[in-house]
Amino acid sequence: MAFNKRIKIKNILEQAPIDSEVTLMGWVRTKRGNKNVSFIALNDGSTITNYQIVADPTVISEEILKKCSTGACLKVTGKVVASQGSGQSSELNAESIEVLGEADPEKYPLQPKKHSLEFLREIAHLRMRTSTFSAVFRIRHALAFAVNKYFNDKGFFYIHTPIITASDAEGAGETFKVTTLDLMNPPKNTEGKIDFKQDFFERETNLTVSGQLEGELAAMALAEIYTFGPTFRAENSNTTRHLAEFWMIEPEMAFYDAEDNADLAEDFLKYVINYALENCQDDLQFLENRLTEEEKNKPADQRSEMSLIEKLKFVSENDFVRITYTEAIDILRNSNPNKKKKFQYLIDSWGADLQSEHERFLVEKHFKKPVILTDYPKDIKSFYMRQNEDGKTVAAMDILFPGIGEIVGGSQREERLDVLTKRMEEMNIPQEEMWWYLDTRRFGATPHAGFGLGFERMVQFVTGMGNIRDVIAFPRTPGNAEF
Ligand code: ATP
Ligand code: MN
Repeated sequence: MAFNKRIKIKNILEQAPIDSEVTLMGWVRTKRGNKNVSFIALNDGSTITNYQIVADPTVISEEILKKCSTGACLKVTGKVVASQGSGQSSELNAESIEVLGEADPEKYPLQPKKHSLEFLREIAHLRMRTSTFSAVFRIRHALAFAVNKYFNDKGFFYIHTPIITASDAEGAGETFKVTTLDLMNPPKNTEGKIDFKQDFFERETNLTVSGQLEGELAAMALAEIYTFGPTFRAENSNTTRHLAEFWMIEPEMAFYDAEDNADLAEDFLKYVINYALENCQDDLQFLENRLTEEEKNKPADQRSEMSLIEKLKFVSENDFVRITYTEAIDILRNSNPNKKKKFQYLIDSWGADLQSEHERFLVEKHFKKPVILTDYPKDIKSFYMRQNEDGKTVAAMDILFPGIGEIVGGSQREERLDVLTKRMEEMNIPQEEMWWYLDTRRFGATPHAGFGLGFERMVQFVTGMGNIRDVIAFPRTPGNAEF
């Protein structure tokens, strides 16, 4: 007989088939009781809710019950009955329990008590067995599904761009090298440098920092595409918003200008947030309660004005603010923290790069709404962004979210070959290596635009988790690649 003849707890809760005979499989969260009866809270990952197993010691032997400790994996068969206790509508009267895997209480690190997120990060191989993390990862799944559904329903095509590339698209140089050369003894060329011609790809390669450039090539044929894949940045930024390996969603569209691009990004973000609100109610409620508890430990003036779900509704129901970089600089220059020298980086002139403290001021203090910032100075943005008529700014947009800062970075792309190549010269970007990218401007060029959304920052926003390390199963950050 097949092993997996089980019902999921989620389904039992939805259907509550009173009096039916079912088999459950899952992990023990807690066990309590006395010599007459034991109550086991079982969780099988299908939902935040544990299901109560009632075990009568005249039916289930003491020896078995002893093994049903926190963390043990069980197969339980019994009858669904209306619950006597409060807190659940039905429960399972165990007729037989098979211990699939024991968890020695002396050694199992996840005993039922409050653990800090920092401690749980050290046992990332087990942390998904907590309510908090299982909720986060169910929501993460729902968001990933919503991303694909949104674009599919709009007729966008999902393109898988390469993970190993020869270009450092952004020119930032923060890449992880990919090589099969012997690091102890790499071949050298006549100039004494490493001879990558002898490497696997016969050139220097790295892990991709963005799928955009290849995405643009696809958009010049399929018109509306998106990528959703891993990206890698060897930036040594130990913040709560940066990972060395993260997932990025990058739509790229022919026949879109900067305004079309912003409209799409806003609609997309609202759709995905709404999808979570509609499909992850229990998990969101759990995380909201968790945050409310956490907030009680904060001083009153640092508590947030809205609960998690209120905040998600607020963002999905209200228009984002759209302002230019120049307008933002005026606001920041005249702001209190700037006048009182509270910013670490004071804003004194046009052209300054915005730091996260400025972005957060605009979003959290000044507008109290998501903000789409457009038309940045060309000198602080990438070579491929389309130059505006003023000769000083480019058609860039960043979307800033409360608590997160930058969640989206995008632009209308420079489709004019002469303007693009001139800019590449100014920025010392080698054109020979990018011949294929420039070909799209030589043959059938058209206005087009796109953006990149950091998926983990989105998951952070929706779950309310403060640290990006807690929304990806096995985070990669400087000094961390254990699991
Ligand atoms: P930041 O200034 O926050 O480092 P960025 O300007 O480097 O961001 P982009 O290169 O525009 O970001 O990348 C597009 C999106 O990818 C960002 O808006 C953000 O959501 C996400 N992102 C960028 N770097 C990281 C990272 N190290 N970890 C997680 N997400 C990231
Ligand atoms: Mn960055």
